[in-house]
Amino acid sequence: MRMEENKLLAPFTTFGIGGPARWFVEAASEDEIIDATAWARERGLALFVLGGGSNVLVADGGFDGLVLRVGLRGIHVAEATQDFEQPDTGRAGEAVQRIYQVAAGEDWDGFVERTVEDNCAGLECLAGIPGTVGGTPVQNVGAYGQEVASAIELVRAFDLQERQFVEFSAAECGFAYRRSRFNSTDRGRFIVTRVDYRLTVGGAPTLRYAELQRALATLATAGGEPSLAQVSAVVRAVRRSKGMLLVEGDPDCRSAGSFFKNPVVSEAQVRQIASVSENEPPRYPAGPGEVKLPAAWLIEQAGFQKGYALGAAGVSPRHTLALVNRGGASAAEVLALAAQINAAVESRFGIRLEMEPVLVGF
Ligand SMILES: Cc1cc2nc3c(=O)[nH]c(=O)nc-3n(C[C@H](O)[C@H](O)[C@H](O)COP(=O)(O)OP(=O)(O)OC[C@H]3O[C@@H](n4cnc5c(N)ncnc54)[C@H](O)[C@@H]3O)c2cc1C
Repeated sequence: MRMEENKLLAPFTTFGIGGPARWFVEAASEDEIIDATAWARERGLALFVLGGGSNVLVADGGFDGLVLRVGLRGIHVAEATQDFEQPDTGRAGEAVQRIYQVAAGEDWDGFVERTVEDNCAGLECLAGIPGTVGGTPVQNVGAYGQEVASAIELVRAFDLQERQFVEFSAAECGFAYRRSRFNSTDRGRFIVTRVDYRLTVGGAPTLRYAELQRALATLATAGGEPSLAQVSAVVRAVRRSKGMLLVEGDPDCRSAGSFFKNPVVSEAQVRQIASVSENEPPRYPAGPGEVKLPAAWLIEQAGFQKGYALGAAGVSPRHTLALVNRGGASAAEVLALAAQINAAVESRFGIRLEMEPVLVGF
């Protein structure tokens, strides 16, 4: 384990923004996590746990403490079977399932690719998302009709408060839209070291998302249900068209993905928004009496179009929800743009958008 001093953080983030960490270490095992966190505690240092840096905005002044980068690697596979009842026929059956026990520092997209190659269903719509496996339970990563919450069997983590390892079932993780105990009630308390996912061998792909269904329609007519590989390939292609896939040399993907969460509002708020807008707001059900509105739509209606720029920060030319570093942007510029957008959305619709990326060192 090598403690480094004044290590620039920008290269460890997809935004490519951020000053130095006072101290920086990469932990490759659970023992190194124990040692590094004890080292920080003895010195009274603040601790920040970094995965792939794809959902963070680091301050220009950096982070005055220890940044612990999670570097644990390894994937272990176990077979299991589970009884199920087919919802349409009520017939009972038995599905072969596979539990993947994945170390937190593994690359998420590489892992998803492997499960698709293994013909295991459950994560195929989450292809092309950057970051580490350990980052996925933190904000319950989701896209194109899937969320990790529905595949996670167990999360193993180091409890910084009790200084011991603990294991949580999915139910104990408190998953909701872009939310878990790890980014809400227990924020900063746990370091995820391993995540177990339960996937179905030979299972059907999840085809819930309208945009995905449309993109797959041509394949489906050519012969039955699309394969998991076809679905993940289409997801990647759609992501790429929006600058939501990390592609070497593509400036539009220098971002943290979606910068704002889609707000969940009441039916009354939707009626209020419709009354002050020329167009009917698109909406998705989000539980009893609640509706999820696309933040991208609200931002566009508030006057911000793709490609809008404020200094070296900008709205992605390919996706209104992503703020991008157009080249040499500072964290201050990104936050100024975010504030400008939020003020416009709030004054037009009375809704305050919530940021998705985690702010580090502010
Ligand atoms: C181009 C692009 C597209 C994206 N698309 C999506 C998308 O479709 N859906 C989606 O949900 N997200 C998306 N994201 C956001 C991001 O990829 C995910 O949130 C990802 O899971 C973050 O993982 P990470 O390892 O990079 O975490 P980091 O960015 O390093 O950290 C994010 C937060 O998680 C914490 N954390 C990370 N690892 C651990 C750990 N092992 N233990 C405890 N805490 C930890 C950090 O402390 C921090 O609070 C996108 C980002 C980009 C750049």
